[in-house]
Amino acid sequence: MADCLFCKMVAGEIQPDVVYEDEEVLAFRDVNPQAPTHVLVIPKTHIATTNDLNGENAAIVGKLYLAARQIAEEEGIAGPGYRMVMNCNAGAGQSVYHIHLHVLGGRPMHWPPG
Ligand code: AMP
Repeated sequence: MADCLFCKMVAGEIQPDVVYEDEEVLAFRDVNPQAPTHVLVIPKTHIATTNDLNGENAAIVGKLYLAARQIAEEEGIAGPGYRMVMNCNAGAGQSVYHIHLHVLGGRPMHWPPG
């Protein structure tokens, strides 16, 4: 997707602060962190929202979580605890329309979220 911010990162046109990468997944630090650790884990393929997941592309979601698990270990938040969130559409606060798993940790998390 030519006009997708996260696709531009995957293509190397924009360089985020990368913490993890494999053939299918890219993860980088959020530019506006909401916790001491705030990483976004994205598929390299463009999927706009979780409403666009289907039987053919859904396997990537498990890979996002596996990458997040590894990142949490490396960031030292796996033991204390961390939160993973995917916002879907404007009502949930989605602002970049390329699915991404927020990984947040390093401070107490409250529930319910705002
Ligand atoms: P969401 O609001 O769930 O769509 O999350 C999008 C996230 O992308 C926000 O937390 C933004 O701070 C983050 N973001 C936007 N632009 C960049 C960027 N250039 N590099 C890293 N994170 C970004």
